[in-house]
Amino acid sequence: MWIVPESAIPGLVDEQSAFDAIEATFAAMSRGDAYNFPVVREGLGEGRQYGFKSGLDRVGGLLGVKAGGYFPANAAQGVPNHQSTVYLFDPESGRPTAMVGGNLLTALRTAAASAISIRHLARADARVLGMVGAGHQSAFQMRAAVRQRAFEKVIGWNLHPEMLSRLEATAAELCLPFEAVDLDRLGAEADVIITITSSFDAILKDAQIRPGTHLACMGTDTKGKQEVEAALLARARVFTDEVAQSVAIGEAQHAVSAGLLEPGAIVEIGAVINGAHPGREHAGEVTLFDGTGVGLQDLAVASRAVDLAVAKGLAVEVAI
Ligand code: NAD
Repeated sequence: MWIVPESAIPGLVDEQSAFDAIEATFAAMSRGDAYNFPVVREGLGEGRQYGFKSGLDRVGGLLGVKAGGYFPANAAQGVPNHQSTVYLFDPESGRPTAMVGGNLLTALRTAAASAISIRHLARADARVLGMVGAGHQSAFQMRAAVRQRAFEKVIGWNLHPEMLSRLEATAAELCLPFEAVDLDRLGAEADVIITITSSFDAILKDAQIRPGTHLACMGTDTKGKQEVEAALLARARVFTDEVAQSVAIGEAQHAVSAGLLEPGAIVEIGAVINGAHPGREHAGEVTLFDGTGVGLQDLAVASRAVDLAVAKGLAVEVAI
C-alpha cells in the first residue's frame, strides 16, 4: 500500500484537479454509481469530535473512509485543530491500498464543491463575490470560487472582525479589491455568497438576499449548526451534494424541520452536472447549494493525490 503523508500534499492536488475529481464524484452519486455510508460522529469530551465519512464508487473503483475530527487543544501546541486521514481500499478484495493525509485535501475538496455549485448555478454575469466567514477554509473557498466567474470585487463579513485580514490578503493574492461590509450591504451587492462559519444561528436573513443571488452554504455540517434563515431555503431553489445529509446535518435541517421545505424538493447537484436537472431556471431565481461534505469527496481527492504522488515519487510504498 501507498502512504502519502500530509507533508507531501501541498502542490500535489491543485484546484482544477480537485474540481474535476469532485464534479465526477457528484455526477456518479446522482447516476447511482456511487453512494456514501452513514456518517459516524462522536463527542470525545473537552470539545473533541471524532468521526468517519465513507463510501463506495462502484464505477470509479473507490472504497474507503476518512477518519478524523476536531481537537481544540491542538492550536496551543502549534498543531491544526482539524485532523483527518483518508484510508483507501481495493473494492474487490478489501485490501488497503493507501493512507493519505486528509487535512489540506479536506479544504480543497470543500472549496471544489462550492466552486462546482457556482459553475453550474450562479448567473453568468456574476461580478461581486460575498464571503461570510474568515476562518481557515475561507481562503480556499475564495481561491476556487474566483475561477468560476469574472469576479471584479470581493466583499466580506465576519463575526470576529480581526479575522477579516485573511479575506483581504487572499483577495489581494487574486488581484481583486476587497471591502469589509455589513450584512445588509453584503446581501444587497453580492451576486454570489459563500458562507463558511461555525455558526449555530442564522447569520444571513431572507430579507437581505436579493433575487438572482447564488449562495453556497458550506459551514453547516453538523446537527444544530445554521448560517442562513430557514425562510431563505423556502424561497430559494435548494441544491445539495447529498439529500440525506442535507436534511440531517446540512443547512436544510432547519427548513425541513420547520415544515418550510420538503426533502423531495432538494436537488442533487450531480443531477445538474449530468443534465437531468436544468439548474438555475431564470435570472431572478435565488439558488442555494447546501454543501454538507460527503465521504466520497474525500476518497476522490485522496485517490487523485495517490496517483500524483506515485508519479512524482512522493509516495512511500509499504508491504501489507
Ligand atoms: P475556523 O475555526 O478556522 O473559522 C471559523 C469561522 O466561523 C470564523 O470565520 C469565525 O469567525 C466564524 N464563527 C465562529 N463562531 C461563530 C458564530 N457563533 N457565528 C458566526 N460566525 C462564527 O473554521 P474553518 O476551518 O474555516 O471551518 C468553518 C466551518 O466550515 C466549520 O463549521 C467547519 O465544520 C465547516 N466545514 C465544512 C465542510 C463541508 O464539507 N461542508 C468542510 C470543512 C469545514
